[in-house]
Amino acid sequence: MSEPQHAYAWQMAQWQDVQKQIRAERLPHALLLSGPSAIGKLRFAQALAAYLLCESPGELAACGQCRSCHFQSDASHPDFREICPEEGKRQIGVDQVRSLQHFSAQHAHRSGGRKLVLIHPAEAMNANTANALLKTLEEPASGTLLILVSHSSSQLLATIRSRCLQLSFGIPSPELTEPWLRDYVGDQAMAQRLLAEAGGRPLAARQVFDDDGLASRERFDKGLMALVDGQRSPLQFAEEMLDADILQVLDWWVARLLSLSRYQLAGQVLTAVSWQRFKSLPAKSVIGSLERALKLRSSFSRGVALNKRLILEGVFLEWAQLCQNRAVA
Ligand SMILES: [Zn+2]
Repeated sequence: MSEPQHAYAWQMAQWQDVQKQIRAERLPHALLLSGPSAIGKLRFAQALAAYLLCESPGELAACGQCRSCHFQSDASHPDFREICPEEGKRQIGVDQVRSLQHFSAQHAHRSGGRKLVLIHPAEAMNANTANALLKTLEEPASGTLLILVSHSSSQLLATIRSRCLQLSFGIPSPELTEPWLRDYVGDQAMAQRLLAEAGGRPLAARQVFDDDGLASRERFDKGLMALVDGQRSPLQFAEEMLDADILQVLDWWVARLLSLSRYQLAGQVLTAVSWQRFKSLPAKSVIGSLERALKLRSSFSRGVALNKRLILEGVFLEWAQLCQNRAVA
């Protein structure tokens, strides 16, 4: 039997909020867990679902021993449904949500009578699907709790948001995430760098480490500097980055530009010290590049067919020209 899942150490405030509602028997029909991606909202939702289904939960987690926890650990709990986009799809299908009406009309199988539905990410529901969910939310069967997880709750229908109790999760404090990541990577300085690169999002930082540490990112950063110094042409650099995941490259690019413009406009600390040399670039041009990069990233993530090589060449050419004009030293 595996250990019962806990919420992460940086989620204790939200965990206690929910505990209060549970103790006062005021848990609503639907919870919306919102906040940036890769900070552990899904794990919180899973831990909470297991906790609420558990027959003898402790203070911080499900017991991990009862029949309900056994069902939960081998993903066969009859009173639990998890809904997310099916493999290879971006959206949650309307039929997936419609099947909930039947589920929530049934009696619970286990004692206690509670049923749980977890939907993630909630923004993967289109208007049809969201309307089907509204039906379920409007006629809540007693004992069914919906937990929605969203990285972008402003995209949800207002009618859905208003029916949920919202639990917000921000970027957690490094005081809590650094020790966790240090235990994983085995090195304090590395943990700090990873967190800085990931914008403070602990699971994104761990993912960077699992992928290849910071090696790919360093290759990208070095290439950019060689480009600005005239040791690489934009076409050469685009060629070199062709084997990388384009979304990943655009993510890095967006992160660097965002950090530079925050540094220029608000005096925030740069995530890469070497970018100090770009401080005198016109802030307006940096923001222009950032906006174009965000548009490209959004097109790629929506699956729009674009020529990767042309996109990279365009991005690098524009940057090389901008830096050349200002003779960045
Ligand atoms: Zn249990």
